[in-house]
Amino acid sequence: MKVRKRMPALKLADYYMGRDREYHHELTPELRANARETLRRVNRLLKRAGLTRKVSSGWRPEAINASVPGAAKGSKHISCLAIDLEDRDGALDAWCLAHLDVLEEIGLWLEHPDATPEWCHLQTLPPRSGNRVFEP
Ligand SMILES: [Zn+2]
Repeated sequence: MKVRKRMPALKLADYYMGRDREYHHELTPELRANARETLRRVNRLLKRAGLTRKVSSGWRPEAINASVPGAAKGSKHISCLAIDLEDRDGALDAWCLAHLDVLEEIGLWLEHPDATPEWCHLQTLPPRSGNRVFEP
């Protein structure tokens, strides 16, 4: 019998990046629920893609987001509705582009890979355009 290698799922601690201590008061129950749902969907996606990835940017409290170069003012990272995954070889971005039906099934939207060199931005809410793959 073949033993299938179990892929480690991303955890809330990976997503909060330790910021849940210093910014404890900003992390409301609503945001915590959003974070759980974001991870649930992203872990499903990674499993389908057969890839493991590290979080390069998870939750961003307002002050952190303001200090991130190029971060959108109303970034969905602030509300725990978005995640950036390390993707130096672009394999995850490429997989997503080739499997938009899976993104739709799971409920994820992808920032266009042209705008995210070395990482992959996924979010659980549609952008204003409603496009599955969107320009920032
Ligand atoms: Zn992002």
